[in-house]
Amino acid sequence: MELINCVPPENPNDYHDVFVYLEIRNEHITKGSLEMLGKGRELAEKLGDKVVGVAVGKGLKKIADEAASYGCQIFLGADVTDYSGFSSVAYTEFISSFVFEHKPSIFLISGSREGRDLVSRIAIRCKTGVAADCIELDADVQNRLLIAWRPSFGDKTIDQILCKKHRPQMITSRPGSYKLPQQVEKPDCDVRIKKVKMAKLAQDHKTLEFKKKDRLDLTSSKIIVSGGLGLGKPAGFKIVQELAEALGGEVGASRPVVDLGWIPYEHQVGQTGQTVRPHLYIAAGISGKIQHIVGMKASETIISINTDPEAPIVKYSDYFINADLYKAIPKLTEEIKKVTAQVAAPSS
Ligand SMILES: Cc1cc2nc3c(=O)[nH]c(=O)nc-3n(C[C@H](O)[C@H](O)[C@H](O)COP(=O)(O)OP(=O)(O)OC[C@H]3O[C@@H](n4cnc5c(N)ncnc54)[C@H](O)[C@@H]3O)c2cc1C
Repeated sequence: MELINCVPPENPNDYHDVFVYLEIRNEHITKGSLEMLGKGRELAEKLGDKVVGVAVGKGLKKIADEAASYGCQIFLGADVTDYSGFSSVAYTEFISSFVFEHKPSIFLISGSREGRDLVSRIAIRCKTGVAADCIELDADVQNRLLIAWRPSFGDKTIDQILCKKHRPQMITSRPGSYKLPQQVEKPDCDVRIKKVKMAKLAQDHKTLEFKKKDRLDLTSSKIIVSGGLGLGKPAGFKIVQELAEALGGEVGASRPVVDLGWIPYEHQVGQTGQTVRPHLYIAAGISGKIQHIVGMKASETIISINTDPEAPIVKYSDYFINADLYKAIPKLTEEIKKVTAQVAAPSS
C-alpha cells in the first residue's frame, strides 16, 4: 500500500541501524524505553547493525551512561540549553533531525503517552508509517525488514506488519511488552551530544509538571492472581484477594468483570488493560481469549484454574488445575499459609 503524498527512499538498503527513543523521567530512562533498547539490540545484532539511543533533555551524559550500561552502542543526544520541559513540537524537531542525519532503518518507541505523542509527528516528518501497539518483533535478515506483530480487526486476529518501502520502519509497543535487558559488563558506546535551543519551538505549548497517577501498577508485580467471569459474582474476588495476599501478590482481572463493575479498571490485564510479566500468574475462571493472553503470556509461570479442560488458557499454562475455583482456591490459600508459617517459624 502506498502512503499518500509520501515519497519512499530510492534505496531502503541505504538505511542502517536501529533507533530507540529513550524517554527520561526523574533523571532516568523509563522502564518501557529500556525494554525497547533490549529489543533494539536483539534486532540490531541479527541485522549486523548497531542500536542507537536517542534522547532529548538536559544533563544527558548521565543518561548516555545509563543507556550504555544496557547495551546502547551509539547515543545521540539533543542537550537543550534552555530546557523548559517536554514539548512535542520541539522534541519532534530534534529527533527528526537525528533521523535525517543518521538514516536509521528501524525506529522503536515505547508506547507511553509521550511516545504516542511523538511517534506520529516524527513519522509524518520522515514520510513513513507507524505500526502501533506491536506485541512482538523480529527481523527478516535477508530482506533487511522489521517484522512486527499486532492485534487487528477489533483484536480478533494477530497480523504481521511489514514496511517494505518507507524508512525508518517505525513501531510502538506498550510498556511491559518485552523483558528488561541485562546490564552489559563492559559498556561501549559512542556518545554524541549536541547543544540545541527549544524556546522558539516550544512557545505554543509548555509542560508544567508530570503527575504520577496513584493507581495500581501491575507491570512491576512479581505475583498476580487474576479472576474472570468464572467467579460468577463480584464477591468471588474475596477468595482471589486472599490467595494473592497469601502469596504476597496483587489481584488482576479479565475485562468483562471490570466492565461489570466487579473490580476497578486498574486491575485489568490484557490488550486494553495492562501488559504484565510476573514470575507467577494465576488465572482463575478465565477462558484465555487472545485479548487476555497478549497481556500475560510473557509471565514466567502460568497456572490456570478452570472447570473446562478445553479452555484456550490451558495451552498457555505451565500447570492446569481442572477444578471449580471455589474448591481449588481456598485449598491453595490454606496450603500456602501453612508453608509460609513453617518457613517463618524459628527452628528449635
Ligand atoms: C477490542 C477488545 C479488547 C479487549 N480487551 C481485553 C482485555 O484487555 N482483557 C481481557 O481480559 N479481555 C479483553 N477483551 C475481552 C475478551 O475478548 C474476552 O471476552 C474476555 O477476556 C473473557 O473474559 P473471561 O475469560 O473472564 O470470561 P469467559 O470467556 O466467559 O471465561 C470464563 C471461564 O471461566 C470458567 N469457569 C466458569 N465457572 C468456573 C468455576 N466455578 N471454576 C473455574 N472455572 C470456571 C469457564 O470454563 C470459562 O473458561 C477484549 C475484547 C475486545 C473485542
